[in-house]
Amino acid sequence: AIPLVVAISTAVSAQNGLLIRNRTAFEESRKITALLFDKTGTLTTGVFGVTRFETAAPGFTKEEVLRLAGALEQTSEHPIAVGIVRKIKELDIRIPEAEAFNAITGQGVEATVEGRAVKVVSPGYLKENNLAVPEGAVSSKAETVVFVLVDANVAGYIALADAVRPESKGAIETFKRNNIRVFMATGDNKTVAEAVSKELGLDGFYAEVLPHQKVEIVKQLQDKGEFVAMTGDGVNDAPALAQADVGIAIGSGTDVAAETADIVLVNSNPEDIAHLILFGKATYRKMI
Ligand code: ADP
Ligand code: MG
Repeated sequence: AIPLVVAISTAVSAQNGLLIRNRTAFEESRKITALLFDKTGTLTTGVFGVTRFETAAPGFTKEEVLRLAGALEQTSEHPIAVGIVRKIKELDIRIPEAEAFNAITGQGVEATVEGRAVKVVSPGYLKENNLAVPEGAVSSKAETVVFVLVDANVAGYIALADAVRPESKGAIETFKRNNIRVFMATGDNKTVAEAVSKELGLDGFYAEVLPHQKVEIVKQLQDKGEFVAMTGDGVNDAPALAQADVGIAIGSGTDVAAETADIVLVNSNPEDIAHLILFGKATYRKMI
């Protein structure tokens, strides 16, 4: 006979865009007291549009800044990369080839383009390397800003924005009604994180987080007595997913993250987690 829990969790999965990889995960989901979400593509749509692109050094036009960034970003799968490449195609700018492409974990990408060392990086990367943020790049608006470095000088910057997922609001209301605290950990800047947190009424957020720091955040919440579920993507989130009481890999995540996770969230939709928790609570209430 098929154990009841397996039968139930299979039914939940089929209906709700969830892949339950670990038999106890369904049972554990009803114990969740805190959720730690990633932002991009989970609480937000992950569809970035370029809002501005600017030059910050003599010798570079704003189109040149975008073109050099595009050379790197056509190799990257990051939502920021997809947004930048889409803008370049709209403007009919030809993208040059990139060589020796490398991802800088949680901070950006680098490669050689036309013999020059080009990087597209986060504000955190500039800070760490004592590079000044160009005037105008700091905005009070909730924009994700990445900087284009050419031979270690800031040539310009690109600002992008995505929107909160329409499904996030309802999901968070459900969590709150069930006494589950909701937090967000993102590699993005504080202004963006704060705006998303405010819009969704989150209990707290962590901004400019590097992938290895997510494990510490999960541990901190656990030390406070929380039973923590965490969503994540990519190879870099795997240790934090393993540390969480319930690890939830998002659908577009890599195989490594999915292997570490208890649950795979196929459509990256927070509402599917809300359904899972409610269904888990209802099921075990009936069984006891
Ligand atoms: P999150 O998933 O929370 O957005 P990531 O770790 O994926 O965080 O990215 C953190 C930051 O690193 C981004 O906000 C951006 O500044 C920078 N970054 C990462 N990948 C890229 C990329 N391909 N191009 C430009 N910037 C990137
Ligand atoms: Mg990410």
